[in-house]
Amino acid sequence: MMSCIRCGACCTSFGVCITPADIRHISSATGMPPAKFVDTVQDYPGRERTEPALRIGGEMQILVLKRSPSNVCFFYSPEGCKIYAHRPLLCRTYPFKKDMRDMLSRPCPSGWMPEGKERKQYEKDIKNYEKELQSFQKFAKEWNSGGGGSLSELLSVISKS
Ligand code: SF4
Ligand code: SF4
Repeated sequence: MMSCIRCGACCTSFGVCITPADIRHISSATGMPPAKFVDTVQDYPGRERTEPALRIGGEMQILVLKRSPSNVCFFYSPEGCKIYAHRPLLCRTYPFKKDMRDMLSRPCPSGWMPEGKERKQYEKDIKNYEKELQSFQKFAKEWNSGGGGSLSELLSVISKS
């Protein structure tokens, strides 16, 4: 079976949802303050991802990676991901979700499925992602029930947690 052909379509087509663990990980690996690479988009009904929405500036928002002026991921370059070793959980598991099912938003042919060691790594990353989502849900519940706050307040709480 084929493997990911590193065409970059997934890095250039969508916003990338991120979790608090992703933010801490990228910030500590790159030395960048979270405000440099974190953005938000307004929550919307019927989305596929299950990252919780957070009350930011009085509105329900989703945390995503910033996009460049040409509307591709902030960390994308034609040579590849600039933070590959530290990329978010969504990037590690894309285009699969639980039980190695295809994401609905998959932009590449659904003919490829990792095998052997690569598949095991995907399965492990998907498990880590599910675990992080549970902890993110808990965090969001506490943040939202406290009335939320600004993005910089949120990033400061995430950085310290
Ligand atoms: S996951 Fe699919 S869209 Fe993304 S780089 Fe691999 S083949 Fe391309
Ligand atoms: S962080 Fe890297 S792998 Fe993830 S969308 Fe951006 S460029 Fe692609």
